[in-house]
Amino acid sequence: MTSNVEQCKSALTVKLANRVEKITPSQTLAIAAKANQLKKQGIDIISLSAGEPDFDTPITIKQAAERALSAGDTKYTPVSGTLELKKAISEKLASENKLNYAPDQIVVTCGAKHALYNTLQVLVQEGDEVIIPSPYWLSYPEMVVLAGGTPVILKTRIENQYSFSIDELRKQITPKTKVLILNSPSNPTGAVFQREFLLEIIKLAKQHSFLILSDEIYEKLIFDGLQHESIGALDPEILSRTITVGGASKCYAMTGWRLGFLAAPKYIAAACDSLQSHSTSNPTSFSQAAYTYALKYVNEEVQTMKRAFEKRRDLMWRLLSEIPQIKPFKPNGAFYFFVDISKTELDSMTFTNRLIEEARVAVIPGISFGHDEAVRLSFATSEAQIENGCQRIREWLKKI
Ligand code: PMP
Ligand code: GLU
Repeated sequence: MTSNVEQCKSALTVKLANRVEKITPSQTLAIAAKANQLKKQGIDIISLSAGEPDFDTPITIKQAAERALSAGDTKYTPVSGTLELKKAISEKLASENKLNYAPDQIVVTCGAKHALYNTLQVLVQEGDEVIIPSPYWLSYPEMVVLAGGTPVILKTRIENQYSFSIDELRKQITPKTKVLILNSPSNPTGAVFQREFLLEIIKLAKQHSFLILSDEIYEKLIFDGLQHESIGALDPEILSRTITVGGASKCYAMTGWRLGFLAAPKYIAAACDSLQSHSTSNPTSFSQAAYTYALKYVNEEVQTMKRAFEKRRDLMWRLLSEIPQIKPFKPNGAFYFFVDISKTELDSMTFTNRLIEEARVAVIPGISFGHDEAVRLSFATSEAQIENGCQRIREWLKKI
């Protein structure tokens, strides 16, 4: 994949910093934007590429932002967020996640992406290794590289439910291992880690003294009656090694509001605060007011969205399972199917390009997540679109 930088190079007169030459732009954002653009041009595209809920933000959350705006809540707030929001996050983490983080251990950020970025910037430098199970959310390795560290990819397989064994993890640990990134429920597979497995990971983290960066952005979108487990809550000592990341985007349908947070040992939170004070400063003031309201008062709408996602998951599972040339993995959370395409003998980029050109269905190539033998299909879209999209994929696969 050529980077934006490579594509524009002839026009450049000044050498850019080495760090940007090493990264590629976010394919998830790029493909979803391309699908939307084609739709706007009147082309009949079915987009199964979206990395965001198709639902609107609940009305009461919007009204809370309107109230904040009318009340003049339009100025700088403290860099790491308002005390009201940090208290609300601290209370939410204690009551829902059994995590004990005081407000001064919390930094409110411009989205969970920003929380992950800040954390890796303050923890990782040249010589440090960060273990990332794959398939991974595509920004993790790029953020590690931007911090000067080395991503160590721990490949998992569909046969093992896209999970790794403790022995496989142990083999990747070296004296340079600084951080392990965990993401449950996972983007792109929807896999959910269970408590027993997390307890095994905790043993290793304690033994080898590495940190855990736990991305829990999809925590409320979890199906089949399963319970979300926050790794930091499972052992008092591990909390002092865990950075928990969450946010408003996925569970409250607030992707455009850019509101996330990290909760960490105080010295790490203070370093993130300091870094943020020289980059974005505080996240948008009235977005913070809206998220504070959401955390305190909005639950019913979240449950309604979750039920809708679970229903769509069931529908898509049924439709994809009927297609002989592919092998879907049944997700327990988030809103994606990671579908094995190895039987088609196409690499994921060719599959994706041909699918959009020949069948007008947009999906994300697995190579973006480190797996060339799969593609990601989002079910953050209507049941009609899901039915239509799966039908098109089925017909197209018969012909190729
Ligand atoms: N982590 C994962 C696993 C994600 O899928 C996303 C979605 N972009 C993010 C973090 C970032 O979310 P946000 O919109 O809050 O930056
Ligand atoms: N997380 C979403 C996705 O994976 C949004 C895109 C992005 O932030 O890269 O599609």
